[in-house]
Amino acid sequence: MAGDGKHIIVIGAGIVGASIAYHLARRGARVTLVDRGPPAGAATGASFAWINASFRNPKPYYDLRMVGLQEYRRLEQELEGRLVVTWGGGLNWDLEESEIEPLVRRQANWGYDLRIVGRQEILALEPNLRAPPELGVFSACEGALVPVAATEALLAGAEALGADIRIGCEVSDFLSGRGRVTGLETTAGSLEADHVVLAGGVASAGLAASLGFDLPLRSSPGLLVHSRPMPPLLGRVVESPGLHMKQDPDGRLVAGTSFGGGPAPNDPEAEGQRLIERIRSALSGSEGLEMERITLGLRPVPEDGRPAIGPVPGAAGLYLAVMHSGITLAPAVGRFAAMEILDGAEVELLAPFRPGRFAA
Ligand SMILES: Cc1cc2nc3c(=O)[nH]c(=O)nc-3n(C[C@H](O)[C@H](O)[C@H](O)COP(=O)(O)OP(=O)(O)OC[C@H]3O[C@@H](n4cnc5c(N)ncnc54)[C@H](O)[C@@H]3O)c2cc1C
Repeated sequence: MAGDGKHIIVIGAGIVGASIAYHLARRGARVTLVDRGPPAGAATGASFAWINASFRNPKPYYDLRMVGLQEYRRLEQELEGRLVVTWGGGLNWDLEESEIEPLVRRQANWGYDLRIVGRQEILALEPNLRAPPELGVFSACEGALVPVAATEALLAGAEALGADIRIGCEVSDFLSGRGRVTGLETTAGSLEADHVVLAGGVASAGLAASLGFDLPLRSSPGLLVHSRPMPPLLGRVVESPGLHMKQDPDGRLVAGTSFGGGPAPNDPEAEGQRLIERIRSALSGSEGLEMERITLGLRPVPEDGRPAIGPVPGAAGLYLAVMHSGITLAPAVGRFAAMEILDGAEVELLAPFRPGRFAA
């Protein structure tokens, strides 16, 4: 196997690092994954976790996201029931009426499985909506998952293939020699490696800066409310003005206000309660809905909004993987990163997303 004998350290047990570790181990590499916190303890655990290649993305980004969707089907098989995706599709009416037609035409021309739906069909899809709109868009190919469980499934898959998962191990510095990253300094001592993968989410910029690479990152906050379990009320991801929501397989409803993010709320608990009220107003049958918890996470968003995936200029041996939409992209990024690191391949789909675009 291509990975035989190579030791690769992955920094980060979010969904991106977990997927890369899994795919490297699957190719026969010797993998060590380190994280200072629990698995999925940063952006991943706070994610809405909608899997989609939906609107407003340039074509190269759409293409990469589509591979993400397809690769989830493969991972579901490979992980034999441990990775659960709910493929209910996505129903969206958070759009100006005038933009629906051109957006749908553009996505449909690219081959995306979506269509315009009227009130009757919307009600047929989601009978509990109290005030269905006149028009919306339904994308049948979209899904959602529980991000902590999915990350744990990938880590368990990696471990079963021999990966060494070290939780509670913080990276403080890189080891380098002859212009190459050769390992890490960690709270558990130094570790040597043939390659290092930096999938540290928003903390990646600080670590990359220690090697002289400036990764411009926006850390956009996002709050979600998680309800106590309810009987089935919602079958797909719903995106409406000021409220997106889904229901996890355990019956918990998860909701937020804006996919784009905004300023961190002054009073997160009160914001959580407001979201619970909005769900109650939107869904019949949700009168007894109660808040269980809120999550507040920072989306790791490179300044130009695009993922940063690939070798780091000036730091041979270091591979960077930092992105928003990391839930959607993780399976594709994991497989492609393993090919690039182990085979020396240059995956063309990743060409627009190289970290080198930020080099001076
Ligand atoms: C509110 C919200 C909603 C979102 N909705 C969606 C969505 O619907 N669909 C979608 O596709 N994406 C969504 N995203 C984005 C997605 O969640 C992220 O892109 C993804 O989780 C990033 O995963 P990651 O593994 O790169 O980073 P993270 O999950 O942040 O993981 C990075 C890990 O690195 C570790 N680490 C950092 N520094 C060190 C160090 N020095 N030593 C050791 N370990 C370290 C951290 O502890 C952390 O566990 C959303 C994000 C948020 C916050």
